[in-house]
Amino acid sequence: MSDTVPGSTPMVRFDAVDKWYGDNHVLKNINFEVAKGEVVVVCGPSGSGKSTLIRTVNRLEPIQKGKIYLDGQDIYAPSLDVNAFRQRIGFVFQQFNLFPHMSVLDNVTFAPLKIQKRPRGEAEAFARELLERVGLAAKADAFPGFLSGGQQQRVAIARALALNPPVMLFDEPTSALDPEMVGEVLQVMRSLAREGITMICVTHEMGFARDVCDRVVFMDEGQIVVDAAPDAFFENPDHPRVRRFLADIL
Ligand code: ADP
Ligand code: MG
Repeated sequence: MSDTVPGSTPMVRFDAVDKWYGDNHVLKNINFEVAKGEVVVVCGPSGSGKSTLIRTVNRLEPIQKGKIYLDGQDIYAPSLDVNAFRQRIGFVFQQFNLFPHMSVLDNVTFAPLKIQKRPRGEAEAFARELLERVGLAAKADAFPGFLSGGQQQRVAIARALALNPPVMLFDEPTSALDPEMVGEVLQVMRSLAREGITMICVTHEMGFARDVCDRVVFMDEGQIVVDAAPDAFFENPDHPRVRRFLADIL
């Protein structure tokens, strides 16, 4: 949770960001900050721009106007070392996309070995520690196809943590899971939030939002319509579109 020093550099900052896909204006004047250690939930109707918003943080999508900063650094600056930059952001998608032909342990050690050139012993020790944290120490030698969806998503979280990123982005990490597996993934996300890692989570899990996050951002038609503390968001949804959204999903 948040333990921000007032005036310190935000971990992520959007400054008047606009993005179009062709004629489709998908991000409209986005101004938004995430402090170090803060956990922000992004929600809103389908097509409102949530995925696009978090994909721009990782430079997976170009923007046409404005700036995005990671810990004060302009992420679209020509001088930016993109590979080094990407190592500072962990990304967990709806589809876990594990390497199917590699064991769980090899999935988690892949980036530390290939990208960071860490010694194998060290990478494996850290991977086992991460698997322990997501409750899968016993599955290190299993192959993804033999795991449940919830277990695969927990491996994907361990893999994203393997480069020790200061920021974790989640894009609907539980939406592709059978209902009985949602809880185990949210449990892992809750424990990460408590450890003070900065998190931006696109999710419709409103229980998680209410209990865990510091702020809820609600998007509609490419705009941030509400950016509020969870209590204010849930108890006084003063925006009609938020009320409609909550009525539909709760
Ligand atoms: P959400 O995650 O809130 O459902 P998205 O960010 O995926 O919304 O989509 C926002 C808008 O951008 C939608 O109109 C969608 O059709 C469009 N869009 C998303 N991805 C692409 C893409 N790769 N190419 C063109 N249009 C896209
Ligand atoms: Mg999406």
